[in-house]
Amino acid sequence: MATLGPATDHKKTLRKMIDAGLDVARLNFSHGDAADHRRRAQELRAAAEKCQRDVGLLGDLQGPKIRVQRFRDRAVELTDGASFFLDSSLGLEDGTEEGVGVALDTLHEDVEPGDTLLLNDGMISLHVDRIEGTRVQTTVVNGGILSNHKGINKKGGGLSAPALTDVDRENIKLAAELEMDFLAVSFVRDGNDVREARRLFEEAGGKGLIVAKIERVEAIEEIDSIIDAADIVMVARGDLGVEMGYAELTGIQKKLIRKTRKASKIVITATQMMESMIQNPIPTRAEVSDVSNAVMDGTDAVMLSGETAVGRYPVKAVRAMAEVCKGAEKYPLPEGLTRHRIGDYFERVDEAIAMAVMYTANHLKVTAIIALTESGSTARWMSRIRSDIPIYALTPHAATSRRVTIYRGVIPVHFGADQSELEPYRRVFDTLLLRKLARAGDYVIVTKGDVEGVSGGTNSMTVVQVTEAG
Ligand code: PGA
Ligand code: MN
Repeated sequence: MATLGPATDHKKTLRKMIDAGLDVARLNFSHGDAADHRRRAQELRAAAEKCQRDVGLLGDLQGPKIRVQRFRDRAVELTDGASFFLDSSLGLEDGTEEGVGVALDTLHEDVEPGDTLLLNDGMISLHVDRIEGTRVQTTVVNGGILSNHKGINKKGGGLSAPALTDVDRENIKLAAELEMDFLAVSFVRDGNDVREARRLFEEAGGKGLIVAKIERVEAIEEIDSIIDAADIVMVARGDLGVEMGYAELTGIQKKLIRKTRKASKIVITATQMMESMIQNPIPTRAEVSDVSNAVMDGTDAVMLSGETAVGRYPVKAVRAMAEVCKGAEKYPLPEGLTRHRIGDYFERVDEAIAMAVMYTANHLKVTAIIALTESGSTARWMSRIRSDIPIYALTPHAATSRRVTIYRGVIPVHFGADQSELEPYRRVFDTLLLRKLARAGDYVIVTKGDVEGVSGGTNSMTVVQVTEAG
């Protein structure tokens, strides 16, 4: 996955990124206006079409990121040991070396003496000394340059802003209008925030999957309800690392990947994955290792942010990341990533079929798994099981094709609705042969429902030998 921005605003760049391995493009609602998002969505779709590839589109809501207001001179330098205040009542443009306004009316109620506030992604830290009305008086612990609109986090979490702002509500409508395949909700606190976003998205006509971004401490405490309410979880390491402190971040990332997969949901690992490529044409070994480890732990997707949105080498960053993913995928996933089924029941027939397929595929020589699917859900169940056999999601729906791009190990294949007299297996074989996904004589596993065009209707698996076109 890669974030679009000024550095990708070129049709050729987008096409090169897709050719280099981009599966999902992210539009970040924190930057740019509606016109930018419309234009970028359109250009992305055009580039995907040109490359004959299915590329998903993700809209990322900005959420209640709390920021300082503006300074009289754009920025100030805070020195260690100096006093500095944050005050929601201060004029929007009145920041000085003494203090600055802040866009959270309840800040003075959400912090108490002894708390640590972190600004500019944790680069600057302030110790809270006392509260005077709406003014939060602090001492600078780690100083530095503080400029307009930089973000504020409270160490350990606890800033009370609700997850969906008025701006987010507008952007949800825009995401629905642009038929986005994924909607990411920032700073969710619990399952209710996720359900509220889904309700608004669906009300606006949206059909995509809902991504819950885990980036505040409260979300870790409510993780079960969040995973339950979401389709996809994003380990948003930027803000999460600031609130949690970075020392535990890796442990939390591994836990989130495991928990999400066990719930048969999808997981994205994001932020600073190849950060040095904003400036440099190759990643550091530490970055390579970070991406590899996320893949080896079972993440479905890895995401680039500034590397592509504003970096010097957006195409090289995608190519490097794709190569590292492929390298890491050669090594098996750890055991125990799948929900334990002893004494447990499948919830759905298509889930049961998917599990039977994966057991068979891992114990029989087959070239490929073919899921004839309407919504992609059979392919999703399959993709939760360890296997290195490709899962082809054959579907007539472009939206399903774009959606399954994010499921690990699943490759979308366009499969037109039946207009011919040919029986289904013949049409499947012809598609596989044409696209060189299998050869005559290969065994493949095919799943389907009794009636084409019914979602969730998969109720059979068949092991068949591909035959030459008749
Ligand atoms: P952001 O979210 O890029 O929208 O801040 C990701 C993160 O915080 O890691
Ligand atoms: Mn964030």
